[in-house]
Amino acid sequence: FKAATSSAFEVPNVEFTDIGGYDDVRHQIFRALRLLGKADDLPQKLRNELVPRGFIFHGPPGTGKTLFAKATANALNATIQVVSGPEVTDMYVGESERKVREIFAEARRNAPAVIVFDEFDSIASRRSGREDGGSRAGNAMVAQLLTELDGFRPEVPVLVIGTTNRLDIIDDALLRPSRFQPVHIDLPDLSARRAIAEVHSRHFEVPAGEAVLDRIALATAGMNGDEIRSVFRDARAGEVLGDPPGPVDARRLGELVGALRQAGQDRDVSR
Ligand code: ATP
Repeated sequence: FKAATSSAFEVPNVEFTDIGGYDDVRHQIFRALRLLGKADDLPQKLRNELVPRGFIFHGPPGTGKTLFAKATANALNATIQVVSGPEVTDMYVGESERKVREIFAEARRNAPAVIVFDEFDSIASRRSGREDGGSRAGNAMVAQLLTELDGFRPEVPVLVIGTTNRLDIIDDALLRPSRFQPVHIDLPDLSARRAIAEVHSRHFEVPAGEAVLDRIALATAGMNGDEIRSVFRDARAGEVLGDPPGPVDARRLGELVGALRQAGQDRDVSR
């Protein structure tokens, strides 16, 4: 007697309220989700023009692309699997396609479902037209993605979200209307940085008043959400360990931002 193998599709644990800032991104996603909801009332032609069958969240690393994908799945009451693009493409020719077919089949069994392809560019970059093995494999993957893309329809509620730092190399065939809708998720601006700091101040239970949040937002210019999170994580860790200089306060948070910035500069210099 064999126990059923557990699915790689999970119930998403991120909500839109866990994400700080990015009102424009939320607006774009909500609008597309509302169109998805109306898709079946539309004539085929209009549906093709208006309703995306997936999203490409693109922008620099650590800006919450995966977070937005999980919150989107949550809003759809869907299960989710995050698949690493390079892991799929690093397989032998033929095997990659089989893997993708399997992922879609499993998504249908777990529907409503969202499949997230991290580093989507690795599986969906532009057809080069060259006749070497690599580009042929790439073409086959894009072609297969197009066949599998049914959209989030009542019969087949499977949505695909690709995340990438390189929208410029994504195959144009995937970017036509009614295929993937690109959504730009850039580095956070001042108000987004403040909102992100607020989220993580709550999450790590590191109290930060209005004035402190303002200062953190100013001090973290150029940083991504992941880096802002690490300021609060380190503050909390320091508190747990009783590290000097004692309880978390504005000064300590400021020092942590400074240390993070210094570490970033050191990295840049060594590159
Ligand atoms: P990559 O391109 O490197 O895969 P990504 O854009 O997908 O990165 P995420 O993995 O979604 O980034 O974000 C990493 C972490 O950074 C999140 O788990 C979260 O803790 C924090 N983070 C990033 N952006 C935000 C945000 N807007 N609000 C709250 N937390 C954020």
